[in-house]
Amino acid sequence: MLDPRRPRAFNQALMDLGATVCTPRNPSCGACPWQGYCAAYAAGDPARFPVKDAPHPVPFQVIGVGVVLDGAGRVLIDQRLNEGLLGGLWEFPGGKQEEGEAIAATIARELVEELAIAVEVGQELIVIEHAYSHKRLRFVVHLCTWLAGEPQALASQQVRWVRPAELADYPFPAANARIIAALLEHLARPGAA
Ligand code: SF4
Repeated sequence: MLDPRRPRAFNQALMDLGATVCTPRNPSCGACPWQGYCAAYAAGDPARFPVKDAPHPVPFQVIGVGVVLDGAGRVLIDQRLNEGLLGGLWEFPGGKQEEGEAIAATIARELVEELAIAVEVGQELIVIEHAYSHKRLRFVVHLCTWLAGEPQALASQQVRWVRPAELADYPFPAANARIIAALLEHLARPGAA
């Protein structure tokens, strides 16, 4: 439909029409140069257009996350696979809570499945809400004590024990910055493990 000689003028005219005459809620059909060609006008109720889809509910998931510490005060992190959302970044291990599952059980199960380690799930460190365009996530983060099993990268590129002060050297997704801050704050408290 574009005028091959003056496409810019055509586009500008459309924008002007939408801004001044064919406004979404109150179109001025009586003053409209397009009225004779307009399907919405011909349908008899032009204010009914454009038809908007009903908003889709955004899926919500709870993610259990384990900040696993060993006896030497090191913390366990893993590097995500390169494919997919946040690929290649480092993170604290965890995964989706299943229906009817307690969050501590989620964390223990995920650490077995993803790292082949056994942990004791301890106190809650922080809860973080994070919204993407296509889903909402709640990260429930618990401190964990490593009990047994050499960590294996079963669902990631690699795993690493690092000193908490070294966490700043690794690229993490934005939501993890608050986990790191909460961990450092926790460890700075007198008597913290
Ligand atoms: S006639 Fe059609 S294009 Fe013109 S203002 Fe009415 S609805 Fe909009």
